[in-house]
Amino acid sequence: MSLTASCPRCSAPLTEWSGTWACPDHGETAPLWKPGEASYDAFGHHLRASPQFPTYLPWPLSPGWSVTDFGVVGATPESARATLTCSSGNSALDGPVDVLVVAEEPGTGLGARCAGTATDDPGPEVGEGPPTVKVRIGSQAVPLWPVSTSGSDGDWDRSVFAGEAVGRWLWMVLRPASAMLLLRDDWILRDVSGLGPQLLDMSFGGAPPSW
Ligand SMILES: [Zn+2]
Repeated sequence: MSLTASCPRCSAPLTEWSGTWACPDHGETAPLWKPGEASYDAFGHHLRASPQFPTYLPWPLSPGWSVTDFGVVGATPESARATLTCSSGNSALDGPVDVLVVAEEPGTGLGARCAGTATDDPGPEVGEGPPTVKVRIGSQAVPLWPVSTSGSDGDWDRSVFAGEAVGRWLWMVLRPASAMLLLRDDWILRDVSGLGPQLLDMSFGGAPPSW
């Protein structure tokens, strides 16, 4: 297995006892499975660890962009409850940019960790007023609202958006914060969990972001 288990809410390694996983700080939790390094083979492990749960990537990836990180939360493949991807590349205005996409069941806390927010789920700002952007998932337009990160520490340079897709939270975190200008209504998020040979066309690796 090229994926290792850690806590979805922090980076602590977990202890396991009879199929139950626990974080020293957050107590009992489903484990987050992450690769040591993003690769085509590790992504295959990731997809086999989340067969019934979507894994979203901006689609198509722009030339020169690669998948730099991913993860799935769940004690077993059948109980997967969250996935994360990070794709990274360069934009003319912002230089190096990271785009994190998290889909998760409420109460998982992975999206909030990437966003740097204090509570597990997005707050009442989701659904309030007009959305910033609508991304497409399949035939569905998914509205996303800005999530404030003002409670985070001062160095937290990112823009955070959240909405609901297929009954789950959808988070998008863009770094640096100014990269939010890249996010437009014509963005497509593709569930790549059912994808076969097209995965071979994708580029993996490069420096994984810290989150
Ligand atoms: Zn933890």
